[in-house]
Amino acid sequence: MTDSPTYIRFWSGLTSIGGTVISLENGRHRLIFDFGLSYNPGEAYLDGQVKLRPTALVQDHLHLNMIPPIDGIYGHQNIGPSLDLVAAEESDRQSAVLISHLHLDHMGAMGLTHSDIPVYLTEDSHRLYQALEHIGEGVAGTRTYSTCAFDTPFTHGPFTITPLAVDHDIPGACSFHIRTPHGSLLYTGDFRLHGQHPEVAYEWLEKAKALGIDILISEGTTLRPHEEGQNEPLLGDPAHPATLITEAALPAKVQDIVGATTTLAVFNLYHRNLVRLATMLDVGQMSGRVVALEPETAYLATKLLGRNDFSVYIGENTHAEQLSGQTTPWKKALLAELPQVTAAMLRQNPSGYFVQNSYPNCLELLDLLGIGGCYIHSNGMPLGSFDPAYPRLKKLLERLKLDYHYVGTSGHAIMQHLQYVSDELAPRVLVPLHSFNPHRLQANHGQQLLPTLGVVYQMQAGLLQEIDRSH
Ligand SMILES: [Zn+2]
Ligand SMILES: [Zn+2]
Repeated sequence: MTDSPTYIRFWSGLTSIGGTVISLENGRHRLIFDFGLSYNPGEAYLDGQVKLRPTALVQDHLHLNMIPPIDGIYGHQNIGPSLDLVAAEESDRQSAVLISHLHLDHMGAMGLTHSDIPVYLTEDSHRLYQALEHIGEGVAGTRTYSTCAFDTPFTHGPFTITPLAVDHDIPGACSFHIRTPHGSLLYTGDFRLHGQHPEVAYEWLEKAKALGIDILISEGTTLRPHEEGQNEPLLGDPAHPATLITEAALPAKVQDIVGATTTLAVFNLYHRNLVRLATMLDVGQMSGRVVALEPETAYLATKLLGRNDFSVYIGENTHAEQLSGQTTPWKKALLAELPQVTAAMLRQNPSGYFVQNSYPNCLELLDLLGIGGCYIHSNGMPLGSFDPAYPRLKKLLERLKLDYHYVGTSGHAIMQHLQYVSDELAPRVLVPLHSFNPHRLQANHGQQLLPTLGVVYQMQAGLLQEIDRSH
């Protein structure tokens, strides 16, 4: 127990999808969770065309308002002269960063923190991160990461942190339960109740209840505004409505489409979703087609799923690397182990394959022009019509005569489930965020707080009291 007050502050990600950054402090000790980048491809400064400046990453991200201006977490030489921030080296604060899962909106900026500040990932997230880094998909900045284990409390000064496994569409995802000298808090991270193993979600709820929660900070991605002329409150309900496609129902749906296709079958997924990747491999087996994965995805499938029942697709770019002797060592090793598939093989026997194609490699599909077939979009990029790349993908598929099928499901709980979880956990204070419509989530047992950015709140007897609007 300490005499110092406990303060909480919300830095970003209250009314956007992701980019949520919250700090919790007591005396010199401070926790910061998560540390990602807000996802909004239509409005991003860094649009993929603008080149990053590797030696000015931190200051550029700060100037563009993409990372929070928090004292004491960035390196002196990275801050730059024009920013009025205390560098990590000059601060006496003891900070630690907690990362709930490896989606970019939760971890995209974690590499920009000073290397002396521990950044915690769950063991499963860490394993995934190492594999991603190996294939060139690590985040900007070089540093090492610390691990924490599900259900295993660890301390940081007066805080006791317990990572609890949640069901989300990526391995390693967790909520953080944090016991402070002035009450307990649960930061949900991202979660859903309709994953492949729904029991994970219910175990999570039981464990969280047993630990006790005064303040619940909940994601609210799927919250929609009221429809015109309506104002009924949202009702919590754990049932799965008929319109909800569960992760467990996906293999049969993909299988139906592939089975009805007499030529080429192509799929596009987000390869950090290893459960979905396993689904695609299973569908290949069931439909008697050879699954051809891009090298990066093939690497994840061997390392993290322990599978080798597929081939590696050798597109023009990989072929060019091979010709010029520039194949990276990991790719060379992979290609030595696994059979390979080329466009010529696909043209010869299109119905014998189930081929992965991620959006950045979409021009590889031009080698298959005229064959036609099905294109299964399973939560790969571009995620939806809010991304300017989405209509471009659709236009290209028309040219290729590939029939577009969306067969996916969200990693986020539907509205009724969000409300159900919040009702079950019955916090004294509910803070909905990571949402365009956070107000829709009701506090049926306590009070709802829609916090203001930059305001400092004090935790007192499990409640939050606004104390400072000066920043
Ligand atoms: Zn998120
Ligand atoms: Zn997520």
